[in-house]
Amino acid sequence: MAHPSSAHPNVTTALLEALHFAATKHSDQRRKDKEASPYINHPIRVAQLLASEGGVTDLDLLRAAILHDTVEDTETTPEEIERHFGPEVQRIVAEVTDDKSLPKGDRKRLQVEHAPHLSIQAKQLKIADKTANVQNITTSPPDGWSLERKRDYLDWADQVVAGCRGSNPALEAVYDQVMAEGRQALAATAH
Ligand code: ZN
Repeated sequence: MAHPSSAHPNVTTALLEALHFAATKHSDQRRKDKEASPYINHPIRVAQLLASEGGVTDLDLLRAAILHDTVEDTETTPEEIERHFGPEVQRIVAEVTDDKSLPKGDRKRLQVEHAPHLSIQAKQLKIADKTANVQNITTSPPDGWSLERKRDYLDWADQVVAGCRGSNPALEAVYDQVMAEGRQALAATAH
């Protein structure tokens, strides 16, 4: 398969190839919300936030957003991403992929520690990812999550995003708005 770069003339084809790849890889996965919505909704939302809210036109970043959970959550290997989408997309996906051999607490701590050292592309991807997750957790929460668990997630997301700021002010403003609305929604359920 060809490796369309950012300069590739056919942006539509390049995006659709990433969508098809991710949809196939995530096809048997569901989100943790009550409706068990298709997993692919999440990476599509993250890429859409980058483009619509963050004004991102960088094709490698948009493809990395669509693919961002394939290595972490499916059998996909980094080599496979590189073979299909090139080294730049692979590099961005690798930057936002947790090491699943580590305990969850360590992975969460490392996300906070690594955030300031990420590339400007990975920082934007992280902000969009956390925006989508905060929105999900506060509007269609995972089944069985307590108020405390939701609040902990929001606090942790704020710490990760703090290390990513300065990469895309428009996207950061949307994150801040979603977070403010999310905290209000949680406060309303607490009373
Ligand atoms: Zn994600």
